[in-house]
Amino acid sequence: MVRIVLVRGDITAEAVDAVVNAANSSLLGGGGVDGAIHREGGPEILAACRDLRRSHYGKGLPTGHAVATTAGRLPARHVIHTVGPVWSASEDRSGLLVSCYRESLRVADELGARTVAFPAVSTGVYGWPLDDGARIAVGTVRAAETEVEEVRFVLFDATAYAAFEAAASGDG
Ligand code: ADP
Repeated sequence: MVRIVLVRGDITAEAVDAVVNAANSSLLGGGGVDGAIHREGGPEILAACRDLRRSHYGKGLPTGHAVATTAGRLPARHVIHTVGPVWSASEDRSGLLVSCYRESLRVADELGARTVAFPAVSTGVYGWPLDDGARIAVGTVRAAETEVEEVRFVLFDATAYAAFEAAASGDG
């Protein structure tokens, strides 16, 4: 079973095999985690994303999918970009959020990564309620069949940390 570790902080500082980026489908950068990863990781990541757009994802990376690039200047070795669903009150999109975590772990396995850091995908600009996002994240990682040994959920603020703590201890 994967060991789950909760960390309060900035995901760009994580010296893990792979950090997961809450990207948007364009793969060409954005705000939040995405902006921080490109800023700290430098232009090599964006260049790799542009190549991916040209070679494989002319229409962008679909929601719920994941793909890896270099981590540029980050202490991590790889960045795994995944596109979370935008929250909808009228439609259940949780399967797509589950898919983000599953697909990211599948790509991590392909890379041979043993330690992976995730942000709280979709809970920022994409508006997913934090408690639900935390429950899905922890539940999906716990149920995953993967060679990854440690998943670090890196939470930017106290509210997000508390939501993941509750989800991990079962009262989420
Ligand atoms: P999305 O578009 O998938 O909602 P965001 O990047 O807007 O992605 O937000 C996802 C989560 O990541 C939010 O909870 C946000 O507070 C958090 N976040 C923003 N910057 C960082 C960072 N540098 N490290 C870790 N988490 C971050």
